[in-house]
Amino acid sequence: MATRFVSHTKCLFLLLVAVAAGASLAGAQGMAGTPMTLVVDETQAPRQIAFVHEEIPVRPGALALAYPRWIPGEHGPTGPIENLAALRIHADTTTLPWTRDPDDIFTFHVDVPAGVNRITVDFDILLEGTLSAHQLLLAWNTVVLYPLGIDKRELMIQPSLLLPPDWKQGSSLQVTGKTENRLNFAPLSLERLIDSPVLASDYLRVVPLASSWPAVLDIAGDSQAAIDDADDANAFTLFGKLVDQDRAMFGFRHWQTLHFLISQTGINFDGLEHEDSPWEAVGDAGLSKKSELESYGWPLLAHEQSHSWDGKYRRPAELYSKADYQGPERTTLLWVYEGLNEYIGMLLATRAGFNDDAYMREYLARTSANLAHEPGRNSTPLVDTATENWVIRTVDSGWSSLRRSQDYYDEGALIWLEADVLIREQSHGRASLDDFLRSFLGQRDTGPIVAPYTREDVEAALSAVWPYDWHGFFQKRIYEVHSQAPTDGLEAAGWRLVYNATPNTARFDANYVPIEVFAAYSIGMDVNKDGSVNDVWPGTPAYDAGLGPHMTILAIDGQAYSAELLNDSIAHPANGKIALIVRNFDSVQTYEIHYGGGIRHPHLERIPGSHDYLTDILAPRSFSGH
Ligand SMILES: [Zn+2]
Repeated sequence: MATRFVSHTKCLFLLLVAVAAGASLAGAQGMAGTPMTLVVDETQAPRQIAFVHEEIPVRPGALALAYPRWIPGEHGPTGPIENLAALRIHADTTTLPWTRDPDDIFTFHVDVPAGVNRITVDFDILLEGTLSAHQLLLAWNTVVLYPLGIDKRELMIQPSLLLPPDWKQGSSLQVTGKTENRLNFAPLSLERLIDSPVLASDYLRVVPLASSWPAVLDIAGDSQAAIDDADDANAFTLFGKLVDQDRAMFGFRHWQTLHFLISQTGINFDGLEHEDSPWEAVGDAGLSKKSELESYGWPLLAHEQSHSWDGKYRRPAELYSKADYQGPERTTLLWVYEGLNEYIGMLLATRAGFNDDAYMREYLARTSANLAHEPGRNSTPLVDTATENWVIRTVDSGWSSLRRSQDYYDEGALIWLEADVLIREQSHGRASLDDFLRSFLGQRDTGPIVAPYTREDVEAALSAVWPYDWHGFFQKRIYEVHSQAPTDGLEAAGWRLVYNATPNTARFDANYVPIEVFAAYSIGMDVNKDGSVNDVWPGTPAYDAGLGPHMTILAIDGQAYSAELLNDSIAHPANGKIALIVRNFDSVQTYEIHYGGGIRHPHLERIPGSHDYLTDILAPRSFSGH
């Protein structure tokens, strides 16, 4: 999935106790051969409730039904079990009592009476994945209870979907029948169903792309104009070029037709990968805006679809070790799954033309500066941010430089850049990371299957492309504390990080991050649009002055707060001081920041006389042969 940036709102995060559901496997009574039926009634989707009816073939005896807990792509035990309500289980007209497993609240136990070979299961889903009054994203993992004990690749399901009148659907599912507002889909395994979401809307447009591999945009909007205008900024051409660059990079594919499920609604920058149908939310009428295509190109539009290769077809074995969705799983290899994919997204989006090289350099400067200023690097190895990813994904950003953030994405990308330049440099241009991407992630044409890997497999595949101590390379940068700024790859690629007063232009998060004053690299804090302090970096002038996150700046040097005034004060502090009047909870206090370094925003600058590998890497490639 895409990196999630959090607002400054505090959220209570409940950690679910991780208890393996091994014992319940003994009570498994489902039958692999006969499909269970799953009917999801989404006719009330605009008011955020859905109704589910299942018919499950069973044998008499103890039966365990599970609600998916470890959700592919979400990298954690994030199944929304709290939304499942009003569970009713019947054998014909007889009600069967159920109990929730007190050691695993995602599992329900029921005794199937003698002579019964089929039960019905009904439940309601509260606050179902409605995106707007006009759009629904149906993630099947949120609407299924399934019998434990059958491998998810073998448990067959016959799904049906009821939609509001006049709504249409886009998905990679095969429609076998349609009556009024009910759609029947061809039976498929639980694994393929959960990897095949449905985007539904009363404004849905299906656009085949002019690409060398078959691909389709399924575009939803909140108005007719939103889907009519979707190509105003040439989005269709860019997506077609993106698929062509996929082909040039990977050479092989793991789907028949790629469906891009694109939501244009109030949700900005969200997405989830699927092997043949990534979902991506680009904001209201986002496809028709050049600025949105530029800012969402690499971290979302290219990123979610390249997960088809990096994350879906090839997946860490430790993230794919179970026959079901109940976990626990391990997430340490997200520096490959997400970190490498972040790098791939940067390459693909730039090669396809969503953004230019200058824009990508601005982003690389910004993220490098951010990582370089984290004091948490002195105590916490990068891998730890992957291992605990799901608890830091949605936390408040206060003091986050001490804990570190989801750095396996961007620092991972910078490390893969360093590996790419190393291969190019040592091979004198005969090899590059693209060769590894083709051999490790492309491999061969297949259907949507999973081919698991280990860290050793990654290092062996790299060594086959270019012999090097790859284990030591990743050990030092990812598994051990690595205090120095992760800029070696940029410098090897011919560019260095510099700071000046010109604002950095790569603000892809401008629509949903409330920060207005970026002063992390000068006084050491970021300030939101409402004057509240988003975060303060330890060891900086703002920290030494006593400031902290969530305080609100009321006045600067005797005048009411504004972002412009704060920037002016940083550029020209009076007598080397900035005097702030600040509210913290119910108290109001004066703080003095001592600072004289002026405005500092990060950029990249060419290293004179060096080879510009970065420009080589970002250049479009042509495909040939396969
Ligand atoms: Zn991702």
